[in-house]
Amino acid sequence: MSIPHDPGSPPTDLHRCRHWTFDMDGTLTVAAHDFAAIRRALAIRDDEDILAHIAALPANEAAAKRAWLLEHERELAHASMPAPGAVELVRELARRGCRLGLLTRNLRELALVTLQTIGLADCFDPDDVLGREDTAPKPDPAGLLHLASRWDTCADRLAMVGDYAYDLACARAAGATAVLVNLPGDPWPELTDWRFDDCHGLRAALG
Ligand SMILES: [Mg+2]
Repeated sequence: MSIPHDPGSPPTDLHRCRHWTFDMDGTLTVAAHDFAAIRRALAIRDDEDILAHIAALPANEAAAKRAWLLEHERELAHASMPAPGAVELVRELARRGCRLGLLTRNLRELALVTLQTIGLADCFDPDDVLGREDTAPKPDPAGLLHLASRWDTCADRLAMVGDYAYDLACARAAGATAVLVNLPGDPWPELTDWRFDDCHGLRAALG
C-alpha cells in the first residue's frame, strides 16, 4: 500500500529518485531498542529525549551513561536482523546506481557493524553513513543537507526513508521527500509524503 499525501504539491516521483537516505533502527533492521528500558536503566524520564538528557549532564555522569548506552547498543548491533524487504530494496537501489546514505541517531561505528551484520555493508560508502557524533541528530536536517552537498545535489531531490516522526520531520526540514515504512496506521500525515507497509512495498513501487 502506498499513499501519497498533499496532492497539491506532488512529492518526488519515487522511481526517478536517485538519492536515498535511510534511517537504520526499525527501518533497515527490525526494531530492537527498548527505549522504556533504556530510560529506566539510565534514570531518564519518559518525556525526555535520551540523547538530549545525556548531553545536558555534568561531564562525568554523561560519560558513564554514554558508556552504558554504547555497550547496550553494541550488543543490539551484533544481533541485528534485517527488516522485511530492506535487503532487497537497498540492493535494488544500489544496482540502479543510486547514491545511498544512512542517517542514524545511533553511533556511526555501530551503524557500520549493523550494516555488516545484515549484509548491506557493501552498498554504502562509509563516508555516507552518519551517526550521532557526525551531525546534529534528527529531526535536525543537518545530516540530510550534508549528504545532499556531498552528492552535489539539492535536498529536494533526496528521499528519506524512516519509521519514526524524527525521520519524517528531518526530511520536511531539509525539503526532502519523506517516506514512512514499517509502521501501521498513518500517525503523522502532515509529515509523510509516501507510506508503505514495509520495504517490500517501497521496492514494488519503484517498478
Ligand atoms: Mg528508526
